[in-house]
Amino acid sequence: MKHTLSYWIDSVNVIRRVDEDWDRSMDPDSWTDRAASNGIIGKSLFDFISDDVTRMYIAAMVESVRVLPKTLFRPYRCDTPELKRFMMMTVTPEDDGLIRVSHALLRSEPMAKKAFFQALSYAESSKSTAFQSKMAILGIGFIRCSLCNRICQVGHNDWLEADALAVTNEAIRVVYGLCPDCLSCSF
Ligand SMILES: [Zn+2]
Repeated sequence: MKHTLSYWIDSVNVIRRVDEDWDRSMDPDSWTDRAASNGIIGKSLFDFISDDVTRMYIAAMVESVRVLPKTLFRPYRCDTPELKRFMMMTVTPEDDGLIRVSHALLRSEPMAKKAFFQALSYAESSKSTAFQSKMAILGIGFIRCSLCNRICQVGHNDWLEADALAVTNEAIRVVYGLCPDCLSCSF
């Protein structure tokens, strides 16, 4: 499998182009069906980022590349139940006015133990004004950071690796967001 995937976005963040071998390279563990190339060209990049905080962070990063313009790098994690996958996102302004966004797998290492997650969209979970009680009703006990993939129990401040959580055979229900470390990390 190829270890870098790229797509190109225009001035309003619509995906115009993807890698030629995008479909062959898709990793079914971390990409949903809607990420097939014919499903993403012409759509906004932000259709594929489910939570508002991460969306704003990526938007700021892309906007910064547009203004400067210079290449920015952001390490992040894209874990599977079995693997910690250390990734690098590279955002590059290109001569044709498009911005290339690349996701590269740098290395991976096995999880000490498997952890399964079931994501609930932030929009769904935040319809109610009482965010925490709504999460409790929906059975969501955890927030997972979109960038570093660490997990935090709602109401706590400790962000832990997935394999440091108590063993459970059931999928852990999470909403995605950003942890304070990632949020404060400038690019
Ligand atoms: Zn984080």
